[in-house]
Amino acid sequence: MSFIESLTLTLALIYSCSLLYWSGKRWGAVVSAASLLGAALVTLYWPLFVALLLAAGVLALAHRYQGDFVKGEVRANTLREGIQHLLALSMLLVGIQYAANAVMLKLGITPYLMRPDVGDAFLPIAGAIELKAILTLGIWDQNHPAAAVMLTVVILTGLLCKRAFCGWACPLGLAGEYLYKLRKRFIKRELLPPAWLDWPLRMLKYLLLAGLLYIVLGMPSASIPHYLEGNYHKIADLKMALFFVTPGLITLACFAVILLLAAWRRQGFCRYICPYGALLGLTSFLSPFKIRRSTQHCLIETKGMNCDKCTRACPANIKVHQQGTVRSDECQACMRCVSACPKQEALHFSTRNGIKLSARGLTIMLLLLLFMIPLIAYVGGFWVSQTPTEIRMYLIQHLGAIGH
Ligand code: SF4
Ligand code: SF4
Repeated sequence: MSFIESLTLTLALIYSCSLLYWSGKRWGAVVSAASLLGAALVTLYWPLFVALLLAAGVLALAHRYQGDFVKGEVRANTLREGIQHLLALSMLLVGIQYAANAVMLKLGITPYLMRPDVGDAFLPIAGAIELKAILTLGIWDQNHPAAAVMLTVVILTGLLCKRAFCGWACPLGLAGEYLYKLRKRFIKRELLPPAWLDWPLRMLKYLLLAGLLYIVLGMPSASIPHYLEGNYHKIADLKMALFFVTPGLITLACFAVILLLAAWRRQGFCRYICPYGALLGLTSFLSPFKIRRSTQHCLIETKGMNCDKCTRACPANIKVHQQGTVRSDECQACMRCVSACPKQEALHFSTRNGIKLSARGLTIMLLLLLFMIPLIAYVGGFWVSQTPTEIRMYLIQHLGAIGH
């Protein structure tokens, strides 16, 4: 685990502990803090200890100057944006470290900056093949174990809290939001497609997901061990990086379409193209937590008013004020509708039997899922790639010649 991974992980988990503590779940805070300390002691990995101290220091400073944020007593929008920006910053630093590692390998220098394994989160097909190997053959891949871990984590977030990963954690979603805002500075109008076009466009991401699933499910189980031991899999991350760094004309055209989509309409990339969005959209149907409108408190039913503030706040253009339960696969659990509602108790992110999840609760759930599972995987020896550096150094020199 690289230092940036250690720091982000400890900061996120200490922040979860703090939120648990301030929400009165003192035992939850103690158990989380003890798990984190236990993990550092079991692994005796010095960056975890240093990161633990640094993270505690950062949180103490934040507590001093941003007390409300640390206690989660800020508006949901502020909390969500804070989490999104912190995770995006962390991914940026991870990207810089990854690039430095790859450049050193390419130059034949033994890297003194290690490869951050969390980058394997960008290998969803490898992750899915690894999960298939675990489930059908009982084989645990040792080249990119973090790919399977991160895919599991993302699926779990969908099963538990809808598309909160898209709305609260994904750096691409945040980048799309900025692109959209930039476009709005020059062209003020909303440029929403008509409903007859919107629906087929939304299905595009499901088609892409189906294509990826076809690759994974169509691969015979018997050939998986050969694939996992092959050179292509060992440097699948470098192949992916090369694809982005040296794009061909078709790839550039695809990038342009993606950027245009993101700028054209809010969440355009998440809504129309992203296969992760499709996967989370499907799993989100099973999530027990959904946005629910109480007709006993909503101004429409109680006062006969024409309120639609929740709908106007929704970036996914869901007609919240006309629904009792928002089941849409486009709902990212962003809670903008809840924040916009003038009537307390009218709108909640809750289960059918009334268990409510506040923005603070959702933050805790998300951070624990995103960081506790990788920590357990790390302690269990299923996170760090076991591919020897010399092999990666050799393979990176022959990157172009290595195929499936
Ligand atoms: S329904 Fe509410 S939580 Fe879901 S996307 Fe719209 S604003 Fe966000
Ligand atoms: S904003 Fe609140 S009060 Fe208004 S329609 Fe939506 S749920 Fe009802």
